[in-house]
Amino acid sequence: THFGERTVAMEDKQGLVNQVFHDVADRYDLMNDLMSMGVHRLWKDAMVAELAPPKAGSRPYKVLDMAGGTGDIGERIVNASLGYAEVVVSDINADMLRVGAERAKSWRYPGQVEFREANAEELPFADNTFDAYTIAFGIRNVPRVQKALDEAHRVLKRGGRILVLEFSQVDVPGFDAAYRTYSDAVIPPLGRVVTGDAQPYQYFIESIRKFPAPPEFTAMLGKAGFKRTKFQSFTGNIATLFSGWKI
Ligand code: SAM
Repeated sequence: THFGERTVAMEDKQGLVNQVFHDVADRYDLMNDLMSMGVHRLWKDAMVAELAPPKAGSRPYKVLDMAGGTGDIGERIVNASLGYAEVVVSDINADMLRVGAERAKSWRYPGQVEFREANAEELPFADNTFDAYTIAFGIRNVPRVQKALDEAHRVLKRGGRILVLEFSQVDVPGFDAAYRTYSDAVIPPLGRVVTGDAQPYQYFIESIRKFPAPPEFTAMLGKAGFKRTKFQSFTGNIATLFSGWKI
């Protein structure tokens, strides 16, 4: 794995990722808006629309939002369910969760969320616990992706669903060159201005370029045991939404 000029081993990747999110936690939400020009909000809305959480039912609807960071997805899910869904926002990084928990005080349904520090590769939850598992812009940061997907499958109930939102490589002719230029010329300098450091955002660009292509990632979902897997791409393939079911 590359981080800037250095080559690092798998075990070190998590440490670097943790340092990145420790450093940017307080400015994370602002950076998302600036870097994506606000479009990340539309992709997240589309993810939650696809999940379509129930607004009522005879039993609780439990969601694990993994790598949930500052709680963006969790908040959208609870709102879409009109306060019915119970969400666990889980992240390996205590600083991201601290910012999220502070923000959650002003959610419309603040009682529907719990923040829990955990590593996606080793979840502290029993088998068959959740109705849905979501992970937005998180899976590419996890060193052992297959392990995290296996864990997602384990903690989901039968009939449960996984949704993964992740950046993908832009391969649309004409747009790919512009996107590459934007990534290299705008994002690290913007990161320096907003967070004081360009390096985390250099890591960010590289991690997107290394993430498996959609068909390859869909195969990993299948390997974890998910059925009826599919994906759809957003905004010239900048982001891709993957779906699978535990049946
Ligand atoms: N889901 C949020 C969003 O869409 O705004 C946050 C995404 S942020 C780009 C990636 C998150 O993944 C960070 O909060 C980071 O701490 C978390 N992360 C990285 N490695 C992880 C791991 N092994 N287990 C759980 N979370 C992890």
